[in-house]
Amino acid sequence: MIEHIVNISGGKDSTATYLLAIERGRPFRAVWADTGHEHPATVDFIKDLSRKTGGPEIEAVRADFTERMAKKRAFIQRKWAEHGVPSDRIERALDIIQPTGNPFLDLCLWKGRFPSAGAQFCTQHLKIEPVEHVLTPALEHGDVVQWLGIRRAESRRRADTPRVRRVRWIEPKRSMIYFAPIAHWGWNAVFWMHERHGIDPNPLYGLGASRVGCWPCINARKSELKLIGQHDPEAIAKLMEWEVLVAEASKRGAATFFASDTTPEGAAAAKRGETGATGEYRFPRADEVFEWAKTDRGGRQYPMFEPACASEYGMCE
Ligand code: SF4
Repeated sequence: MIEHIVNISGGKDSTATYLLAIERGRPFRAVWADTGHEHPATVDFIKDLSRKTGGPEIEAVRADFTERMAKKRAFIQRKWAEHGVPSDRIERALDIIQPTGNPFLDLCLWKGRFPSAGAQFCTQHLKIEPVEHVLTPALEHGDVVQWLGIRRAESRRRADTPRVRRVRWIEPKRSMIYFAPIAHWGWNAVFWMHERHGIDPNPLYGLGASRVGCWPCINARKSELKLIGQHDPEAIAKLMEWEVLVAEASKRGAATFFASDTTPEGAAAAKRGETGATGEYRFPRADEVFEWAKTDRGGRQYPMFEPACASEYGMCE
């Protein structure tokens, strides 16, 4: 038996892939890795997709860090005092490293830090692993075709994406096919597909967002941060709350959502070696990054047209 599974992110490409799967007429499942850090409009868009199109319900899968957090607490109890961490900080970390029900926040509490471009563990733990929980039992019953909403025109990295790639196992004899049916499409074909099914794309595109995964993604461009700063003060307030919590869970007592070199001031502080020791800590807080995003002053820029997540699975838009 061959099972077809379509990965959904709430973005235009995975939606077009879902619509194409409906047109092909074979039974399929649609899976969404819910990070707990999407914009509510994206969550609503995904939840409405089945009703609006007549396609299958979207199965939400969420990472669970309960066990890993328990192990981290045990480690802190054993080791942090030896590492010279004051007892009051240890107590606060033990209090704070508890499951909150939000996968993104729980991941950061467990790790004691936020992901970054150089340590992009969010894609692995929040997207790839939860989807694997669906794929593994499916593979026990036969072959799996995983439909991916990846397009070659999205970025140089994806320019050579094959439409079909097969991975085989010998024992038990199984295979997984990575199927990127829209690999050769341009963006106009993607929007045309929405139109053909009478579906408006995720409303965040209408606001000017170029991608709609985590809100914001750790790799968000300055223009995307500016957009969030203009339209979504709640998103900034949430990040500031998370920064306080994750700092409490961190051995060094500091954590910021954005990398130090996101702003020119943060890059200069990092260069001077101000790396988080209490009073001198100058990595940019979320509100400082959003203030900087309103300006024309330098800071870190990501290339145009590069997607946030370069994983071959294209799970982050
Ligand atoms: S969208 Fe960005 S923040 Fe979210 S999992 Fe992907 S890389 Fe990480």
